[in-house]
Order: sequence, then C-alpha cells, then structure tokens
Amino acid sequence: EIKRFAEKTPKSLDFYKEASKVMPGGSTANIKFYAPYPIIMEKGKGSHLYDLDGNEYIDYLLSYGALILGHGHPRVLQAVQEQLYESGTYLFGTPHRLEVEMGKKIQQLYPSIELLRYTNSGTEATLLAIRLACAFTGKNKIAKFEGHYHGGYDQVLVSVNPSVVEAGHPQHPNSIAESKGMDEYHEEHTIILPFNDLDATSEILRKRKDEVAAVIVEPIQSGFIPATQSFMDGLREVTDELGILLIFDEVKTCFRLGLGGAQEYYNIKPDLSTLGKAVGGGYPIGITGGKKEIMDVSIPKAASDVFDNSQSKISSAKDVLFHSGTYNGHPSILAAGLATIDVLEEEIDRINGIAGQLKKGISKLFLQRGIAVQTLGLGSMFNLIFTEKDQILNYRDLQHADYSLRKEFDFQLLNEGIYTKPLNRYSISSAHGQKEVDRTLEAYDKVLGSL
Ligand code: PMP
Repeated sequence: EIKRFAEKTPKSLDFYKEASKVMPGGSTANIKFYAPYPIIMEKGKGSHLYDLDGNEYIDYLLSYGALILGHGHPRVLQAVQEQLYESGTYLFGTPHRLEVEMGKKIQQLYPSIELLRYTNSGTEATLLAIRLACAFTGKNKIAKFEGHYHGGYDQVLVSVNPSVVEAGHPQHPNSIAESKGMDEYHEEHTIILPFNDLDATSEILRKRKDEVAAVIVEPIQSGFIPATQSFMDGLREVTDELGILLIFDEVKTCFRLGLGGAQEYYNIKPDLSTLGKAVGGGYPIGITGGKKEIMDVSIPKAASDVFDNSQSKISSAKDVLFHSGTYNGHPSILAAGLATIDVLEEEIDRINGIAGQLKKGISKLFLQRGIAVQTLGLGSMFNLIFTEKDQILNYRDLQHADYSLRKEFDFQLLNEGIYTKPLNRYSISSAHGQKEVDRTLEAYDKVLGSL
C-alpha cells in the first residue's frame, strides 16, 4: 500500500523535501508528520481536501477536530469578512464587543463557566487553568490521567504515551516525561492517575490531597474513550471532599457531544473548564473559565480597586495571577467562533447523527468480514480500535490493539480517498452527509476485501 501511496503522491514527496530545508522534520508540529512523508494538502472545500497531485479526499481529520463546519463554511467566512470591514481593523488591544458576546454565549451553554478568559490555543488554556488552580488552593502539584493530553508544556507533557515498560503498575502509573529537554521536576510534581478506575484514583488523591491543587481530565480520553458515568460522579465527589479542584479539559469535546460539551453530557459541574478547537471555527483559540471566585484571582490589582472587591481573596499585588497575551480574544477569531456556534445550534444533532450512521456502517462491514474492531466515541468523534477486547476504558486497554493492521488499513483508505492521519481518530463536520457516508463505506468495503 505504501508503493501505491508513493505513486499517487509524488508532488507531496518533492514538497516535503523542500519543506525539510525550512522546518525540522518538514513540519511545524511533530503531530503533522507521519512516515514515509505526509500528504501535502493544497485546498479544502466543505468535507473535502485536495492534495498537490490533485487527489481528492473526504476529510475525517478536520484539523484534529477543529473544523466542525468543514472547510470554508460560508457563514464563518461571511462573519470574519464583516468583522474585518466593519471594524476597519482586526486587532484593538482593548476589551471589545465580541469578547462579551462570546462570553455570554459560553456562560449560557456552559453554566459552570461564570467568568472566562481567552487564550490563543488549548495549550495556553490548560496552562492558565492549572495556574489558577495552584494560585487559588495554594498547592503546587497537579494530577492528570495516564494517556490524556493537555498541551505540550512540561507540567502536563508527562505520561501521555508512555512505553509499557516505563509506565509502571496500572493502578499506580509512573510519571514519565514525553520529551527530550524536560527536566525531572514535573515527573515529581505531576501525579499520574489511572482513568476510569475510581478506587485507585481516590486512593492516590487521598494520600496526596495536601499537595494536589487540581485534577485535570479529558472527559473523553483522546476524544474516543468516554469516562463512565460512575467514574465521573465519583471523581467529582472525591475531589470536592478533598479540597482538590476539578478541571475539565474540553478542548476536544466542546461542541462535539452536544452544545454544552462533556459537562452537560455527564451532568457534572467542574470548577474550571478549558475549551478550544471547534469554538474557534477553524482559527486558533482557547478559553479558560469557571467559578467566579477562582477566576477572580486574575483580576488586575487596579481593577479590583476600582470595583472594590472587598469580598475577593486579593489583598496585594503579589496575590494577583499573571495572565496575558497579545492576541487573546482576537476579534476575527471570535467572529468565526460565534458564527460557528450559530450554525451548530441548528445542525449539531444532524452532525452527530451522520457520525452515528457512519460508525454503524463501519461496524457492520467489519462484522461481515469477521475482523474484530471497536468504533469508540460519542457525538461527532470516534476512533477505530482493532481489538478483540470488548471493553476499552483507558490507556492500558489500548495496548492490546493491532496498530500495524490499522496503519495498513489507513494507508489503503488514503489511496481510496478517505483521509485521516494514519492511526488518528475520525471527526465529522456539518459538511459531511449521506453522500460522504456512502462513499466512505464503499471504500471500506473495498479495502476490507483486500486485507
Ligand atoms: N487539550 C486537549 C484535550 C487537546 O486535545 C488539545 C489538542 N489536541 C490541547 C489541550 C492543546 O490544544 P492546542 O493544540 O490548541 O494547543
């Protein structure tokens, strides 16, 4: 299948060689590379991508889930354009109307978010949430789950994808740095928990309650392994009991289950939440929000004087939490995000329905061929796990899957015009419909026949 891949994508290879003279590994994010070289896309339209060689693909990567309305949705483009022309500029360097408009929308959809701040990425959103948690509680460690991703900085870039050898005991996972250049500080300061195992999680938290400021969790691990309801209920209970804040990292899940994200789905109020990806309509964004008393730790000193926040915990400048960013709350991005939410209010059920239909069709085809697969996920995101195991609850359960078969399958699908980065999960957009589902299932049938 690699041979056919190479025959179909010679211009991608040439371009990739050129790109490698400019960027290490030919790409500006490690995640954008895959061997032997990534297909280089030139154009996106609706649910489709077109590469340099003119090959057409149905896009299931959707920029890692960000493009929930597909490529170039007219209402998003129109909103951005209007914002640019009406305002005569695109960046004010002051608070502005769209920040408040988006803020009110988010408060309404995510009732746990009483106040919020904007950032430029999901990474910065979790960074701020964690700093707020440490500042508010006066503690300096955090706990995260094995296999969960919250961004690329030292505090959370531990035990995201550890080797089985290093990972340690399933109920007491080790804290393993994921990158060269990280010192051991965060291996000690970031405590690793086993997802969907309430007893083991509670035991670790109980022991370390005086050090742990917050637990940060992807309610749906990697966008496709849901927490069980009882685990989420238990996690909320035990963190409340121990005085540990609970942070829902909804960078992937916001708008991909329902409009209110995983917290609506599980009916749980986290103390802090982070949103990203879909909420920017394809442009870079992150949002950190939560309880007023926690968010208020970042009130600038002068502002707290103006509004006489005598109730607030702030008493001197050194108690104020630092948060800044030249591009935070960028008007063009908020215009794109607001238009996206408008469209989603009409279309989210249909998008989730199409995803459900595709999952069902895929499962049926695999069953017919007698190949064990699980289509795991909720809402408009899912993944294919080639496994005999009937329950996938966490990182350890994924170790049993057949990734080499999945990879071979993915490359054959690429050759048939079905695009996701090999081994990546699938996301669906409003531009995907019956036609795309039918074409995808046809391609699956063909590839399954040749496996
Ligand atoms: N948290 C989660 C749950 C994510 O999925 C991601 C991105 N994959 C991030 C944080 C980081 O977001 P960004 O890539 O926008 O920095």
